[in-house]
Amino acid sequence: MARILAITNQKGGVGKTTTSVNLAASLAATRQRVLLVDLDPQGNATMGSGIDKRTLKQTVYHVLLGEAQIRAARVTDTGTYHVLPSNRELAGAEIELIDIEQRETRLKSALAEIAHEYDYILIDCPPSLNLLTLNGLCAAQAVLIPMQCEYYALEGLSDLVQTIKKVRTHLNPQLEIEGLLRTMYDPRNTLAQQVSAQLQQHFGDKVYRAVIPRNVRLAEAPSHGIPVLMLDKTSKGAQAYLALAGEILNREAQQAQETTNDQS
Ligand code: ATP
Ligand code: MG
Repeated sequence: MARILAITNQKGGVGKTTTSVNLAASLAATRQRVLLVDLDPQGNATMGSGIDKRTLKQTVYHVLLGEAQIRAARVTDTGTYHVLPSNRELAGAEIELIDIEQRETRLKSALAEIAHEYDYILIDCPPSLNLLTLNGLCAAQAVLIPMQCEYYALEGLSDLVQTIKKVRTHLNPQLEIEGLLRTMYDPRNTLAQQVSAQLQQHFGDKVYRAVIPRNVRLAEAPSHGIPVLMLDKTSKGAQAYLALAGEILNREAQQAQETTNDQS
C-alpha cells in the first residue's frame, strides 16, 4: 500500500511544488512507483511535469466532484511518475464542494481505489489552509513541510502544527509530521543558520538531514517541463533531492524494521 505524503505549508513560494516534482522524480529514479497529485489550481506541478494544463479534459477537479474516475483522470504515459493533474478549474471546487457530502475526504476516497498500485503518493497542496488542503491532509498519512529558514518561518510553522493537531482530532487521527525540509538554503546566511538551529531544537529528528540549497537549475527546470534530474543530474539541486529521497526511504525501512522487532 502506498505511503501518502501531503507536501504543505500555507506560506506561498517556499518550495512545495519544487519539492513535489523533484521528490517524485527522485523516488521514481530509485524504482519506486509514484503518483503526484496536483492539488493547486495554479497547476504548477502539472506543468513542471511536462503536462499542458490548458488541454486537459479531466483533472483532479472532476475527481473531487465525482464527475470523473481517478483512473481516467490520471496521466500515466509519462515514462516516470504518474500525475493526477490540475488547472484553474480547481479553484471552483472550493465553493462547489461545500454542499457535497464528506467534502473533506473526497480525495481520500478516490486515492483508495488506486493506492495499491503505488509505493508513494505525493500531494502538492496550495498555499492556504482551505478545503483543498484539508482534502490533502485527510488523504495523507503524514505531512512533509518545506520551509525557508527566515524570520517569520517559525511563526508560520506553529500555525501549521496547530492545524495538523486539529485535523488529527476531528478528521484524520493517523496524521503525523513526516519531516521538515529546509529549502532555498544559504549556509552563509547567519539568520538562516539561527532559524535552522531553532528548528532542530524544536523538532529534532523531524528535520531532514538533507538540505535543499538555492540552485538556479531547480528554478530553470519548470520552464522545460521537466524535473531537475532530467535537466542536470549533477546539479546541486538534483543531488539534494536524491539525498532527500534516500533519507525518506531509509527512514521507512528503519520504521518497518522496528515494527518487526516489536512484534517478535
Ligand atoms: P506556491 O505557494 O505558490 O505554491 P511553492 O511553495 O510551491 O509556491 P515553488 O513554486 O516550488 O514554491 O517555488 C517558488 C519559486 O522559487 C519558484 O520560482 C521556484 O522555481 C523557486 N525555487 C524553489 N526552490 C528553489 C531552490 N532550491 N533554488 C532556487 N529556486 C527555487
Ligand atoms: Mg506550489
